[in-house]
Amino acid sequence: MTTVQNNNTTPTSLGDNNARTKLVVIYAPPGMAGHLFPTVEFGKLLVAQGLEVTVVLSGVGDADDLTRIRAANPSLSFHCLPTPMLPSAGADSFEAKVFGLAHASLPDLRDFLRSASPAALVIDFFCASAFDVGAELGIPTYFFLTTCISVVAFGLYQPAMDEQTTLSFRDLGGDLVHAPGLPPIPADHLPAFTLDRNSLSTKLFRDVPHQLCNSQGIIVNSCRSLEPRAVDAIVSGLCTPGRPTPPLYCIGPLIKPKEVGVGTERHECLAWLDGQPKASVVFLCFGSSGRFGTEQIKQMAAGLETSGQRFLWVVRRPVTGDEHHQLAVDELDLDALFPTGFLHRTRERGLVVMSWAPQRDVLAHGAVGGFVTHCGWNSVMEAVMAGVPMLAWPLYAEQRMNKLFLVEGMQLAVAMEGYDKQMVEAEEVAAKVRWLIESDGGRELRQRTHAAMRVAKDALDKAGESTTALVHLARQWKNADHDATAACGLIID
Ligand code: UDP
Repeated sequence: MTTVQNNNTTPTSLGDNNARTKLVVIYAPPGMAGHLFPTVEFGKLLVAQGLEVTVVLSGVGDADDLTRIRAANPSLSFHCLPTPMLPSAGADSFEAKVFGLAHASLPDLRDFLRSASPAALVIDFFCASAFDVGAELGIPTYFFLTTCISVVAFGLYQPAMDEQTTLSFRDLGGDLVHAPGLPPIPADHLPAFTLDRNSLSTKLFRDVPHQLCNSQGIIVNSCRSLEPRAVDAIVSGLCTPGRPTPPLYCIGPLIKPKEVGVGTERHECLAWLDGQPKASVVFLCFGSSGRFGTEQIKQMAAGLETSGQRFLWVVRRPVTGDEHHQLAVDELDLDALFPTGFLHRTRERGLVVMSWAPQRDVLAHGAVGGFVTHCGWNSVMEAVMAGVPMLAWPLYAEQRMNKLFLVEGMQLAVAMEGYDKQMVEAEEVAAKVRWLIESDGGRELRQRTHAAMRVAKDALDKAGESTTALVHLARQWKNADHDATAACGLIID
């Protein structure tokens, strides 16, 4: 099957009567908020469709976070595999460590799957090595990818590119790389951990397209209407020449629910936003890990000040030369972090929040008129669902690609120039922030983002394209006659 699961009839969850509730196991890496949030939302949708869901984590990660997530999502089961011992050498990047962790947990995952006997196994990108365990146990195995469809199209096409050259992407500098359904991509915009063909990270990354192609399906947190060219390129087989094309299920955008109402106090920044005019505040937030050096923080502050615009800025501990001797956030001297007097001079129209703000709720607040984002895919989906236009300032992972697709494909963002030169100058920050809030160009961007929001919300309607794809998928699993116990029994020695 090579088409998006998009039936003309609208299936519902009613009428799929199987005696035993079917179990779906989702295998995810621990401690990666950007992967766990959408995974949990996906799991909840499956439960609403009449499935049982266990999220298996390859280790505990942050125990407090996990406790919070468990408490907020009682309809899901969570199972943490024992944290494995990792070889002390070898992993050359954060990504390689996460791949390694998921791989090292496979014996425990195998035991768990044998006893749980799920109707389907769904694995995260970083847990791709579990594909072989699913195949070994005869469990239909799918991928749930927390990035955009365009990045998936690129990943699927990677083996075809590898056949054309022996060069590493790093050797190509800013030369353009071409893949079906996508705008040309400067090679230096590809994720850092894929650039060097001889590195362990790149080798691990390059195995994944083969596992994707042989999987039962790829589930993506985006919707067809936002990325039609990439979807068409994938389902028509253009991205997978000479290889099987897996079914594609675009079921998004899935974003976190409101934080208020799940036992948390309303954050002070939301009260501050209550007092600001409609669509007047620029929100700056750079994901769960985005950090800057002190000079960049000073340039941002100076730019925000001269812009004259209202702002809400989430600031993390700065990057310093010595990562082993970091001050905790509450030990930081804020007056030294920012230009002298900045906090005092901007106190009437700006708020700085250290470390973390409830981003999903901030973006949904009517006072927010723009978002300076690192282009993490969850952040993008949250902005689209709130109709907030974006200024793109990519930092790590696949974010430069996301920026390109947002700016040149979907036209939902404008880039902050200088992101690729290690320094965005104060003048650029001031000019772009002003442009976004005050100019006709900024208003047009806002209108386009509102149109995208309507399209995305339609996709999630009862009869929308994403709901239809999800219901179709859930129905397959509910009706599966696959007996994983029997399949597992064959190989128990
Ligand atoms: N987030 C948040 N407050 C913050 C920073 C991040 O709530 O101060 C949330 C954000 O809403 C999103 C997730 O953390 O759901 C970040 O995911 P994304 O994919 O955007 O970036 P990543 O952290 O994976 O780089």
